Amino acid sequence: MQHEKCCYCETKIPDEGHLKAVEHFKPKSVYKKLTNDWENLLLACAQCNGKKSDKFPLKLTSNEREAKVIHVKYDSKKRKTDKAVLIDPSKEDPEKYLDFVIDQKEKDIYGLIIAKDDNRRGKITIEVIGLCERYYLINHRDFMRDSLIPAFHMMMSAKDHDNQDRLESSRQIFGSWMDKTYKLSALTRAFVRYYNLDKDYEIQIPS
Ligand SMILES: [Zn+2]
Repeated sequence: MQHEKCCYCETKIPDEGHLKAVEHFKPKSVYKKLTNDWENLLLACAQCNGKKSDKFPLKLTSNEREAKVIHVKYDSKKRKTDKAVLIDPSKEDPEKYLDFVIDQKEKDIYGLIIAKDDNRRGKITIEVIGLCERYYLINHRDFMRDSLIPAFHMMMSAKDHDNQDRLESSRQIFGSWMDKTYKLSALTRAFVRYYNLDKDYEIQIPS
């Protein structure tokens, strides 16, 4: 289901060893009955799993401008209907809530994960999983610098020289990187949208 990628940061998780973790979306320390519930289990990298730990916010503050979490007291009778504030990557589309800073002029935050239109669930998810940490930002920058930008330049030059073969192979490269089986495919889709590559170069963004 996850194509060997972390459910939160979409990095590929190596097959062997300590870097992979079973993530309990609803923490097993609180939702004991869901410890082995298939619907509650996700694959995460050790970094995201450790950072989220047993955090599971259920309510937001009433102050719309604040993205703080009220830690409510858990009520065992209501646990079945508890509605997550965190975005559930197995049931919702994270791209509705999260985006990336692709503008290279934004030197300090280039590559950062941000909440679309400052939406509060996006902000809370970023905060709780720690997706704003430098570790992820560097990862995104490296991928843009080493892969996305060179491929974009190659495609522009192919268009300038009206080289249809190279143009087509560029489209295929972006297509394979946007495929959900590939690491950082959501970042690639955001990059394609940001530079209008879908319109200007007829690249199809997979849904
Ligand atoms: Zn992760």
